[in-house]
Amino acid sequence: MGSGNKVWGGIEAGGTKFVCAAGSGPDDIAALAKFPTTTPQETLSRVVDFFKQQSQVFDLQALGVASFGPVDLHPDSATYGFITSTPKPGWKNTEVVGVLQREFGIPVGFDTDVNGAAHGEYRWGAARGLSTFIYLTVGTGIGGGVMVEGNLLHGLTHPETGHIYLSHDRNADPFEGVCPYHGDCFEGLASGPSMNKRWGKPAEELPADHQAWDLEADYISKALSIYVCCLSPQRIVLGGGVMKQQQLFPKVRRGVQEILNGYIVSPAIQENIDEYIVPPGLGDRAGVLGAIALAQKACP
Ligand code: ADP
Ligand code: ZN
Repeated sequence: MGSGNKVWGGIEAGGTKFVCAAGSGPDDIAALAKFPTTTPQETLSRVVDFFKQQSQVFDLQALGVASFGPVDLHPDSATYGFITSTPKPGWKNTEVVGVLQREFGIPVGFDTDVNGAAHGEYRWGAARGLSTFIYLTVGTGIGGGVMVEGNLLHGLTHPETGHIYLSHDRNADPFEGVCPYHGDCFEGLASGPSMNKRWGKPAEELPADHQAWDLEADYISKALSIYVCCLSPQRIVLGGGVMKQQQLFPKVRRGVQEILNGYIVSPAIQENIDEYIVPPGLGDRAGVLGAIALAQKACP
C-alpha cells in the first residue's frame, strides 16, 4: 500500500478502448492510461497492472467501473459484476468486479458506462444540483444513464434507452437500420455506424448542411420526447461522438418542442430549452470521471 495521497481509481470500460485514471476529481487526475479493448484476460490484466503501480504511490481507496454492457448490477446475483450478453466477441459472461476485488481487496463500484457518465455529470458537470435527469450518448451505440430522485436507475436490469422503436417513415428514410437485435430501433437508425451505412461515409465526414443532420435530429427529438414523457427529467445531457456536431443541438431542441406541442407545461421546455438539452459539462472525460465518481460512491 502506498503512503501518499488518497486517490480513487476509475475504469471506463468501453467496447473499443479502456480508460483508467487515478485521482479525486476533474482537477485532480494523478495518472491516466488508455488501451484498446482486446481479450478480457489481456485487457483486465492491463487494468490490474496500472492500478498496482498506482497503489505503490498512492493510497488507493476504491475502484469504480463504468462498463459497456449489458452488465449484471444485482448485488444478490451469482453473476453480479459481470458483462453478460454482449455481442462483443470474447466478452460474453466476463467477470469484472470479482477480478478487481480479489486483486485489490478494496470496494469496487460498478455500473453501466452511461450511468457512470451520468454520475460524473451529476457530481461535477452539467447535471449538478439536479436529482432527475438523463445522460444520453450517441456514438457507436446509443445508451442513456438515468438518475431518478438522486439514484441511478437500475430496476429490472438497467435502462436501454437506445433500443426503443420510434416512428420510422420508410418513404422518407428507407434505411432498414443496423441493430443486430431490432433492426430499426433508435440505435439502429441513429447511431454513428447507422449513419455510416446509410450515407456511405463516417458521420464526421458529412458536411454540416447535409440532409443527414435533419434526419438525425428528427430521430433524437422523437426519442427525447419519449424520455420527457416517461421520466420527467429536469435536464437531458447529450454526449458521444455524433453529438460533436453542434448543429444538432438547435435542431433537436426545436424538434422536441414541436413534438411535445405545448403539452408539458414547464418553462424549461417552453422558454429555456437551451439549458434543458445540453452537451456534457465534462466533455470527453465524462466516462472516466464518472468511473471515479462510482469509486467514491463505493467508498466516500
Ligand atoms: P464510443 O461510442 O465507441 O465510445 P464515440 O462516442 O466517439 O465512441 O462514438 C463513435 C461514433 O461517433 C462513430 O460512429 C463515429 O463515426 C462518430 N463520430 C465521432 N466523432 C464524430 C464527429 N465529430 N462528428 C460526427 N460523428 C462522429
Ligand atoms: Zn436495438
